[in-house]
Amino acid sequence: MTQLSDLPLRANLVGKRPYGAPQDPVPISLNVNENTHPLPEDVVADIVASLAEAVRGVNRYPDRDFRELREALAGYLGRGLDDGLDADRLWAANGSNEVLQQVLQAFGGPGRSLLSFTPTYSMYPLLADGTDTRWVPIPRLDDYTLTPAHVADALREHRPDIAILCGPNNPTGTVLDTETILAAYDAFEGILVVDEAYFEFDGSRASAASLLPGRPRLLVSRTMSKAFAFAGVRLGYLAADPAVIDALRLVRLPYHLSALTQAAAIAAIRHADEMLATVTDIRAQRDRLSAGLRELGYEVHPSGANFLLVGGFESPTATFEALRAHGILIRDLGIPGHLRITAGTEAETGTLLEAVRALGPGGARA
Ligand SMILES: *Cc1c(COP(=O)(O)O)cnc(C)c1O
Repeated sequence: MTQLSDLPLRANLVGKRPYGAPQDPVPISLNVNENTHPLPEDVVADIVASLAEAVRGVNRYPDRDFRELREALAGYLGRGLDDGLDADRLWAANGSNEVLQQVLQAFGGPGRSLLSFTPTYSMYPLLADGTDTRWVPIPRLDDYTLTPAHVADALREHRPDIAILCGPNNPTGTVLDTETILAAYDAFEGILVVDEAYFEFDGSRASAASLLPGRPRLLVSRTMSKAFAFAGVRLGYLAADPAVIDALRLVRLPYHLSALTQAAAIAAIRHADEMLATVTDIRAQRDRLSAGLRELGYEVHPSGANFLLVGGFESPTATFEALRAHGILIRDLGIPGHLRITAGTEAETGTLLEAVRALGPGGARA
């Protein structure tokens, strides 16, 4: 049988492993930070009606520039901003992973570099590898926070072509301050991406999109995969200067957003308030999970997202497997002593807490 190593793979991909969060069909999946609440039935019905209409037109290619969707996204994202946002500043692709890949294709590549502050989203180095961009990981401070000085020093020293600040940060949950974003922007000449995948769960601060005027190198990425409960549709988006959008058009595949994706996303945004109604409960479950785990003796890092990074496990791998055997999936990211747990519904959170309690202090033993 042919092995991967028999193939003439690009040198920078040799020995690399694909993104691989387990996808077991277990009753309780709290491992990839989805919104685990079901979609409201009336929203489902409206999306299905929109899809039915779109199917009638699929003999034709979809709108390559997905104008209607960009207007809908601009309306949604612009809500919290003084001057709003227009569609020329909006872009979208099949998940924010694809948006970020396009950013790397346009602004990264051979001889260029991507810097971020670790631990952070595991896709950043994979996207760097896929585009032959050099990955520059800079450790966060001991409590996983970032300060304006820490960020600015790293950017001044390494002068990357692209930097990504993830806030709230995956997998630590750490929130990101405006002062840190501004210090980063002023410290280097490259593209600064603020990844706001978990923005809606924080609720306490303004979007970095409010900083866009006058900052053409600032890109703010968002997704419908998390708070919006739309992970299966694959829709991520970005707000930036119209010139940045022009750059992304150079690398996107023609018609990359299918007519069905566009129709589903437009319909869902029409119901944004209903789609996001579960966010309040998810925050409450996150805080309940945090309190419950602290009571059991675990160290829970402060989180502005829909998940918690939890320390104090004697063997994260053994606890991961013990919970998996109980039909509960959480995430082992290889951080010593730690596991990441998504806040689910009230019932899921209760079951998880009971299962962890039953393992005894420090969790399962290796
Ligand atoms: C989940 C996540 C994304 C979103 O990925 P999609 O491709 O939009 O599903 C982006 N950034 C971070 C940090 C994430 O955790």
